[in-house]
Amino acid sequence: MHTLSRALVAATLYCVTLGYASTCSAQQTTLPAPDRILAHDVFQQLIETNTSHSVGSTTAAAEAMRKRLLDAGFTPADVVVIGPDARHGNLVAHYRAAPGSTKKPMLIIAHLDVVEAKREDWTTDPFQFIEKDGFFYGRGTQDMKDSDAASVVNFIRLKREGFVPDRDIILALTAGEEGGEANGVDWLLKTHRDLIDAGFAINPDSGGLTTHDAKPVELGVEATEKLYADFQLTALNPGGHSSIPTKDNALYHVADALGKIENYTFPFELNEVTRAYFVAMSKAIKGQQAADMKAIAAASPDPAAEARLSAVPLYNSTMRTTCVATMMSAGHAPNALPQSAQANVNCRILPGHTPGEVRKKLTALIADPKVEVKLVTDVASDSGENDKSITPPPLNKEVFDALHNVVDQMFPGVPIIPEMETGASDSKLTMAAGIPSYGFSGMGIDDNDERAHGKDERIRVESYYAGVQFDYLFLKRLTGGK
Ligand SMILES: [Zn+2]
Repeated sequence: MHTLSRALVAATLYCVTLGYASTCSAQQTTLPAPDRILAHDVFQQLIETNTSHSVGSTTAAAEAMRKRLLDAGFTPADVVVIGPDARHGNLVAHYRAAPGSTKKPMLIIAHLDVVEAKREDWTTDPFQFIEKDGFFYGRGTQDMKDSDAASVVNFIRLKREGFVPDRDIILALTAGEEGGEANGVDWLLKTHRDLIDAGFAINPDSGGLTTHDAKPVELGVEATEKLYADFQLTALNPGGHSSIPTKDNALYHVADALGKIENYTFPFELNEVTRAYFVAMSKAIKGQQAADMKAIAAASPDPAAEARLSAVPLYNSTMRTTCVATMMSAGHAPNALPQSAQANVNCRILPGHTPGEVRKKLTALIADPKVEVKLVTDVASDSGENDKSITPPPLNKEVFDALHNVVDQMFPGVPIIPEMETGASDSKLTMAAGIPSYGFSGMGIDDNDERAHGKDERIRVESYYAGVQFDYLFLKRLTGGK
């Protein structure tokens, strides 16, 4: 989960080097006092309900949130807890639009489960909600009970205000994102599609607001993803004594194959999201790189600009499929010719392309019948020969208009950067189901304080409250409010 590029992008976007100090104003918190108390209590309740796969229960957390929503006036028919078994319940809540609304519903997906956390690894008890030195500590404070809590708080707050959205808002708080066999988004799509069907989805698990010393730097919006695939290269050989070598050597075959992959560059290709990424980045940075980004986003991209940007690994991986050697093993004795040699090549494939295509390309490139190229299918990933990540549609204008509006209000000058990442969140499921999905939240995490899945997970107290307020303003703006 969370942005791979967060630290990388932040490194290029320090306020000082950008030269516009206004982006570096302190994070504004305008969450009203009563809502701060509610936001605190909901967050605490979620953190102190263990939802880890080993001993926890998302059902317990889902039921607690259901009770809060019912107390706030939602009807039992509109707030259900369902799941494949007793410990992996999902909450689905419908905030109804005015009768006669013709807009397709919007969906918010947020996972309730957390990664395991051992008391002895942590400074504090990971399942106690502790406020210390300006931070909230606990498992899930970053990933992602902060956003679970914000969604519930904002449903309650909007309901109390009598707000009626111009489209249904569906909230799905789900199980099994971090592991196990009960992924809630997958289960809901397969068994209750009608309950969560929507025109688009917001998933606060990916993308997000990066801060530096608590000051907002950039807001990443995950809007498409690459596909993960491993390929195994294998060469076999009868072997023999190394005192009488032959040129036909399994190790050399695989080494030569890797050399060919090293020297190959997949074609340059942008999609709606990566083009928008480079356009947004070209405005956020300065100098040659900014000009190059503008040049490659144009109708006829400049090859010289593309070559210069390709030297930066993050930009390179944004412009093309990449394949890289990651593991190797060969031989069985120092004095014997190797009977087998193997290497693993890890590929990150652009949307719209399949592992099958890439395997054919690698096979043609290697052009050696003694080297077998096989797609590895036993990893916990999504790679089958014909799988692909959906080619992203144009960015949803309503979503981005609302986002720009709220960013201008709360974090003026902070750039909004559409991103392509490798599929690491539930968005890959909703996107595959034809629901365009956008990953972001207003919960600021410092570029050097990424603790999701790690020990002493924490979020700055004021970043949390600002995030709740951000999500509130965004939700209201997107559904017809002012
Ligand atoms: Zn997560």
